[in-house]
Amino acid sequence: MSSLFPYKTKASHTLFDPGSHRPFRISRSRIDRWLECPRCFYLEWRRGVGRPSMPGFSLNNAVDALLKKEFDIHRARGTAHPLMQAYGLDAVPFDHAQIDAWRDALRRGVTYLHPPTNLLITGGIDDVWKNATGELIVVDYKATATSQQISLDDGYKSGYKKQVEVYQWLLRQNGFPVSPVAYFVFVNGQTDREAFDGKLEFDIQLISHTGDDRWVEPAIYQIHECLMNDNIPAAGNICEYCGYRAAAAQATGEK
Ligand code: SF4
Repeated sequence: MSSLFPYKTKASHTLFDPGSHRPFRISRSRIDRWLECPRCFYLEWRRGVGRPSMPGFSLNNAVDALLKKEFDIHRARGTAHPLMQAYGLDAVPFDHAQIDAWRDALRRGVTYLHPPTNLLITGGIDDVWKNATGELIVVDYKATATSQQISLDDGYKSGYKKQVEVYQWLLRQNGFPVSPVAYFVFVNGQTDREAFDGKLEFDIQLISHTGDDRWVEPAIYQIHECLMNDNIPAAGNICEYCGYRAAAAQATGEK
């Protein structure tokens, strides 16, 4: 039976080759995948079996694009955005020749070739601000819709913290002084309005996180070790899919 959504394994030239001297790219999202579950990471980048694709989050992308435009106005003027002023933050959007490249994950974002492992670490950053002492501030935009108080304490938000810590590490490897404090710009879609009326209104909130990037380089060594190994790592406890696949195989009598 043909499928409307045929599954494709990855092309062999995109996979990690332990015998190759070419740098292998490890993006921030690949680091996330490895942190989640080394087995899924390994299946994707050594064996070419990635997770099924997901549709893009077009509303989130639209919010990101609009926020970038808004902060770019202040970047060009060298002025603080009203949100920074509202939170008493003495900073302006950082104006740098590479800012567009850093923000473009498809162009790899901020990059650093880690010589001991030959892994090219990359991360597409949402924004960079500069504080009064000249330190760079990593900024990430998040779109959500909740009536709850937004905080970084939920379990799954530990991934958000790791995300900005990778960006902090990348900027430091590129020689920049980086503030330990990163900011999340949360825009929260409001659902308690009288009517939709063709528009979604957002509240905007700044939440700080004091990052600690000391885990990043040890993780890079472990990722390299994982990729060099010919054995498939054990599954983590991250999700039900391995159990689901085993149960499905048992139900269909597949080995
Ligand atoms: S537990 Fe989940 S994340 Fe890990 S290998 Fe299985 S399917 Fe992948």
